[in-house]
Amino acid sequence: MWYNNKMENDLEKILSLLTKISKTEKDLIKKAYDFAKIAHEGAKRNSGEPYFNHLFETAKNLANLEMDTTSIIAGFLHDVLEDTKTKPEILEKEFGKEVLFIVEGVSKLGTLKYHGANRHNESLRKLLLATSKDIRVLIVKLCDRLHNMRTLNFLPEEKQKRIAAETLEIYAPIAYRLGIRKLSRELEDLAFPFVYPEGFNEISPLFKKSYTEKLEKLEKFRKSVMKELVKTNFTNFRSDYRVKGLYSLYKKYLKFKKDIEKIYDALAMRLTVEKTEDCYKALGIIHANWKPLPGRIKDYIAFPKQNGYQSLHTTVFTGDGDLVEIQIRTEAMHKEAEYGVASHAIYKSEGKDKKQITPWIEAMLPHSVDEIKKDFLSERIFIFTPKGDVVDLPVDSSAIDFAYAIHSDLGDKMSGAKINGKFSSITTVLKNSDIVEIITSKNTKPNRKWLEHVKTSFAKKRIRNFS
Ligand code: MN
Repeated sequence: MWYNNKMENDLEKILSLLTKISKTEKDLIKKAYDFAKIAHEGAKRNSGEPYFNHLFETAKNLANLEMDTTSIIAGFLHDVLEDTKTKPEILEKEFGKEVLFIVEGVSKLGTLKYHGANRHNESLRKLLLATSKDIRVLIVKLCDRLHNMRTLNFLPEEKQKRIAAETLEIYAPIAYRLGIRKLSRELEDLAFPFVYPEGFNEISPLFKKSYTEKLEKLEKFRKSVMKELVKTNFTNFRSDYRVKGLYSLYKKYLKFKKDIEKIYDALAMRLTVEKTEDCYKALGIIHANWKPLPGRIKDYIAFPKQNGYQSLHTTVFTGDGDLVEIQIRTEAMHKEAEYGVASHAIYKSEGKDKKQITPWIEAMLPHSVDEIKKDFLSERIFIFTPKGDVVDLPVDSSAIDFAYAIHSDLGDKMSGAKINGKFSSITTVLKNSDIVEIITSKNTKPNRKWLEHVKTSFAKKRIRNFS
């Protein structure tokens, strides 16, 4: 399936997606393209294709979201620190501080690994959001993950499962919270068959059948809606369909106890109009002609969803025994619904303070960043093992607490610690997102003096028991 590289990696494919960029920006992107190609020269992906294809596809995903030049450059370079000999200083010299910041951020996220410890999921997501000072770090990471998911077939089975589960539990929800539904939907649907193979096999034939049947009826209905709108001199609109992602259908399917008839919105009709008041006008015309199903009329324009989503939803009786969901919104709302934070110009304009992103993240989250910091970051810290497992500890915990949190024997036999790769005292107070490796020796045993340096009760108890 791997194509002719010359054709597929043609930089024009990316540049043609970026309509608003200057000649200087184009040259910079070209420079990143060449830099990545040389730096990863000879390296191959599991599929056997050149590693560069992954970087190209990541950058292309970013261009599809119409991200800024800095993000696209970072997309090309996101693996250059991890996988090649390129030094951070060189990256900064050639491409600037921002690119370096994003690439380092993406590399750091790469060390986080999801191992299915449910109680950590929500904390992890919040941690990711609250500590990503520049939202572009997350967006580059999501685009990187998207290509990895598209090529997941080439990995060993065990890895497929872990990466797919991580995508479903961590990355797709982040994309959703950032309002980039286009991305979250695709990530979910790519991960679904790997995480729930039985569920996938059960529902995909079911929905394939119902899609084909429904599409025909829907097309007929759509035409009659258009006719009614035009009759009332309503002309400035376009209409199409929205097909619900298979994973999100699966969730509904389980929620409705496998009663497929109860899922009205697998296929929905979408109406895009010019102005907000046109949305209500169109809804009026539709309700005047087709009876709505009570309880299914939702005004997400007056009351947007948490992630900023705006639209009117209604489900109507088509007259031939069917129910159809109709979504009505403006072009701007549509863009927002699909691209969310990625569609915002804030970070795209030169020299703007990146802190302006923070209010955005705040709006996306159920609690404000301050609250999260209070909830999590001021009371708990997240410490990583070199393998990327996460342990959350109270603030001011030491490497001793960390060792005991992993395993009591590890604490008992602890003789030293490496914090972020450097040998450090075991009493060192840890900081959020430190990577800690515990060094043990057979002859060590817990020491009462350790008590002054631990915060957690299980560490205290264990040390007291010993001495
Ligand atoms: Mn990558």
